[in-house]
Formats: sequence, C-alpha cells, structure tokens
Amino acid sequence: PPDVEILGRATWTFLHTTAAYYPERPTVTQRANMLSLLRALPTLYPCAHCASDFDERVRAHPPDVSGRSGLSKWLCERHNEVNEKLGKERFECAVGKLDERWKDGPSD
Ligand code: FAD
Repeated sequence: PPDVEILGRATWTFLHTTAAYYPERPTVTQRANMLSLLRALPTLYPCAHCASDFDERVRAHPPDVSGRSGLSKWLCERHNEVNEKLGKERFECAVGKLDERWKDGPSD
C-alpha cells in the first residue's frame, strides 16, 4: 500500500495549490468540475480509512466552490479537521496565510 504520509502531503499540496489558483469568479463549468473533483476524491483515494473519513467531512460540510477565497478556506478547515484527528497543529485559515503558504510565498 502507498505511504499514507507521502501521499497525504502530495495530495494536500495539489489541493491547496489548485484552490489558491482557482478563479475568484469561476465559470459554471469550473465550479461543477471542482465539485466533481472533491466528491470523486474519496471514491478513489488509495487510503481507505482516510477516504471514508474525508467523504463524511465533505458530506457534513458541502464544498464552497463559489470562488478561490471561499474554496481555500473550506479546504483549510477540512485539513484542520484531519490535523486535529492526527494531533497535528491547526493552520490559521485566513486567505493571507493560505496565499503566503500556497501561492505567493513569504513577502520578503
Ligand atoms: P500535511 O498535513 O500533509 O500538510 C502539508 C503542509 O500543509 C504543512 O506542512 C503545512 O504547511 C500546510 N498545512 C497544514 N495544515 C493546513 C491547513 N489546514 N490548510 C492549509 N495548509 C495547511 N493521514 C492519516 O494518518 N489518517 C487519515 O485519516 C488521513 N486522512 C487524510 C485525508 C486526506 C483527504 C488527505 C489529503 C490526507 C490524509 N491523511 C491522513 C494524511 C495527513 O493529512 C498528512 O498529509 C500526513 O500525515 C503528512 O503530514 P505532514 O505533517 O507532512 O503535513
């Protein structure tokens, strides 16, 4: 089976980076595709217990695909739920913090 830590780090990198570059005003098609991507993930993710947990979280908190700031925050909150479960530190889900980590890098 895949290494759950390496897979997780790579998947979060993909998801947070994609959210950071998601349009502020996505088209109807972009919204539908993002929703499909997030709903498909737990059906295919090769860590069964991670996937079923994430599926429940996505059902309890429907993805905000309205634009990049809403999506980035939504994803940050879901990641924090996993962090909490694993005893890891929470991340501050402010758009500025998320952009610094996943889009712009530190300002100096
Ligand atoms: P990661 O949690 O991989 O984070 C990578 C980087 O993201 C961090 O270094 C930090 O800079 C940044 N970051 C941290 N929190 C946030 C946040 N809230 N928002 C934005 N950026 C943030 N592992 C399990 O053992 N059990 C599980 O049930 C499980 N479920 C998972 C479900 C999903 C959908 C995914 C993608 C991964 C899951 N994982 C699970 C893996 C786990 O979340 C970690 O990826 C893995 O433990 C490696 O952790 P890490 O400390 O390297 O940092």
